[in-house]
Amino acid sequence: MKAKIIDGVRIGREIQEEVRSEVETLKLQGIQPGLAAVLVGNNPASQVYVRNKIRACQALGLYSREIRLPAETTTEQLLTVIDSLNHDRAIDGVLVQLPLPRQIDESAILLAVSPQKDVDGLHPMNAGNLALGRSALTPCTPTGVVAILRREGITLEGSRVAIVGRSNLVGKPQLFLLLREHATVTICHSRTRQLPQVCREADILVAAIGRPALITAEFVKPGAVVIDVGINKVAGAALKDILAADPSLVAQYEKNRAGNKEYVLAGDVNFSSVAAVASAITPVPGGVGPLTIAMLMKNTVQAARMQRNLQGER
Ligand code: NAD
Repeated sequence: MKAKIIDGVRIGREIQEEVRSEVETLKLQGIQPGLAAVLVGNNPASQVYVRNKIRACQALGLYSREIRLPAETTTEQLLTVIDSLNHDRAIDGVLVQLPLPRQIDESAILLAVSPQKDVDGLHPMNAGNLALGRSALTPCTPTGVVAILRREGITLEGSRVAIVGRSNLVGKPQLFLLLREHATVTICHSRTRQLPQVCREADILVAAIGRPALITAEFVKPGAVVIDVGINKVAGAALKDILAADPSLVAQYEKNRAGNKEYVLAGDVNFSSVAAVASAITPVPGGVGPLTIAMLMKNTVQAARMQRNLQGER
């Protein structure tokens, strides 16, 4: 079998176009959805993520505001900033870029964001509503995975899905989002016994682990759909091993090296090995990644509608 490579860039663009036209419609009613992104400290990856989110807002006609705070910001200072954004009428969505510096109490911060403006879907109220099957703002990455599966016409109702990873950001919300689609879901993690066998039961396998190329053909039922959420930067001594294990990364490596970048971005799935047995697979990069920003934009529009009691499709 030769797997179909799912084009996340195309699906992400499609969703962004839909958001753009919704933003135009709202503008006719005098509404411009607005997003505030709060970045604490100088984490280079976080800076790139926030910049990309602000750019997406600009491209789609949303109002955006980037708030940069010094690395030594205290929990109390950050709570004050969030409180003012919660009361700011120009702002419909508030996102606090994670990870936060160690001195900051992350749970207190996530709890402080108004649930109506919680476009990352991380407030306990939204997490609880999702678990209860009620309307909620839901985390962008796992929501993007469901969008991919739906738009690729993959049957979810009654299908068996295995998720590897149980984080609050991806694995756990993924479980509830797929239950909402009537799938039969198994959630696996670092203590799961006989992981390859459990995964091989699945019609759809979602990997959200943070371990480069861990999932090989041995984990995949022939003909299954494989969604790779992982983004792992592999550099230094580990490069040689990963390129040998997954030769599909060699082209990316050569390209990066030509631009003086001595690393590859690897998924949690060994693409070379799994593409030979799966029926469809998302690549890294260009798979789930582009959906995360598209869903953030969609959540911001959704939040703007909800705060004004306007109906919106979900
Ligand atoms: P996390 O570290 O919070 O959670 C990882 C999970 O994997 C844990 O539940 C753990 O039990 C499980 N795990 C770890 N080692 C395992 C093993 N050997 N066998 C089975 N399970 C194991 O990570 P996260 O925040 O959920 O992110 C997971 C991956 O997804 C990372 O690579 C991250 O970079 C990526 N990610 C991508 C996006 C995106 O936009 N595409 C967004 C968020 C996260």
